[in-house]
Amino acid sequence: MSRFWTDKIASLDPYVPGEQPQDKKYIKLNTNESPYSPSPKALSAMANEVSERLRLYPDPNCATLKNALAKSYQLDANQVFVGNGSDEVLALAFMGYFAGGKPLAFADITYSFYKVYAGLYSIEPKLIPLNDDFDIIPADYENLDVSGVVVTNPNAPTGKALPLTDIEAILKANPDVVVLVDEAYVDFGAQSASSLVNQYPNLLVVQTLSKSRALAGIRVGYALGHPELIEGLERLKNSFNSYPIDRIALAGATAAVEDEAYLQAICAKTIATREQSVKELEALGFNVVPSATNFVFATHPEKDAETIYLALKALGILVRYFGKKPRIGNHLRITIGTDEEMAALMAALKTL
Ligand code: PMP
Repeated sequence: MSRFWTDKIASLDPYVPGEQPQDKKYIKLNTNESPYSPSPKALSAMANEVSERLRLYPDPNCATLKNALAKSYQLDANQVFVGNGSDEVLALAFMGYFAGGKPLAFADITYSFYKVYAGLYSIEPKLIPLNDDFDIIPADYENLDVSGVVVTNPNAPTGKALPLTDIEAILKANPDVVVLVDEAYVDFGAQSASSLVNQYPNLLVVQTLSKSRALAGIRVGYALGHPELIEGLERLKNSFNSYPIDRIALAGATAAVEDEAYLQAICAKTIATREQSVKELEALGFNVVPSATNFVFATHPEKDAETIYLALKALGILVRYFGKKPRIGNHLRITIGTDEEMAALMAALKTL
C-alpha cells in the first residue's frame, strides 16, 4: 500500500558516500581523508572538553572558531559561518541562495552532492561541460540566466585547479547571483578565493576541516563571505539547527585552525607524496590528471578501472570507482595516503 510517507521517501535521490567498511582494516584511499593524525593541539583541546561541561549546550555562534578563522584569513568574524561539515554549509546555501527560481550552474563533472541538493530543493541543474582536458572554461559561465553558480576549486573528482583570475572572471560575469566556490581541497596546491571576499559581495567561499586539517571525524565546515551573505546563512541555520557543532568539535576545530604550522606540515607532506605517486602511476602506464588536491584521478588505457578497483579491494586496498559513467567510467580516484600506503598500492598494482 502506498502511503504519503512512502512516496516521500521514494522521491528522494540521496548521495551515496564512498565506502566506509567496518568489516576489516583496509588501506583507505577512497574518501580523501587525511592519513595523518589531527593536530596534537586539537586532540588535547578535545580531550580537555570531555568534562562536566558537556552537560551544557555549545556556543551556538561558535565564536572561538569564527575568531580563529577570521584571524587566519584576515577577515572579520561576521564574515565567517560555521556548519556541521561543509556538506551542511552547502545545503544551507543551496536552500537560501539558489532555490526557488532559475537553474543553478555547475560543471557536469564535479562533486555529486550538488545534484542531490538541487533535487531536494527543486532546483534545475544547468550542467556546464568540462573541456576535453577536464578544465572549467570561465567563458562558458557568461550570459547565464541562472539563480547561482557553483565552482569547485580544485574540482573533484578531477583534482584540477583554476587560477584566481578565472574565478574573478566568473564572479564578474555573474554579479547578481551568488557564486559559491567550494574549496574543500584548496590547501593542497590551489589559490583560495578567500582573498577576494572583500571585493565581491556575491562570493561565498566554502571550506572544510575534513581534508587538510585531518578532522573528517568531527564534521566541521565553514563559509567565508560578505557579512550580508553570512547573516543569511545564520538566519537559515537558526531556523533549522541552532547548534551546528558540539562542544568537543568546537574545541578541536578552534585549536586546529590556530595550529597553522601543523596544517602546513601535513599539506607539504601530502603534496610531496602525491608528486612521487604520480610518477610511479605514470611509470605503470596510467594517465594521471594534474592534481592540486590530496587525490589523483587516473585511468589506464589498457586496463579496466572496475577490475582494478575490485582486485585492489580483494587485496585490502580501497580506492574510489564511480561506476560506468560517461567520460569518467574508466577512471579511479585515489586518495594520497602515507608513503607506506602508497608503496603498498604500487606493489599491488604491479601484480595486476
Ligand atoms: N565539497 C567537496 C568537493 C567534497 O569532495 C567534499 C567531501 N566529500 C565536501 C565538500 C564535503 O566535505 P565535509 O562535509 O566533510 O566538510
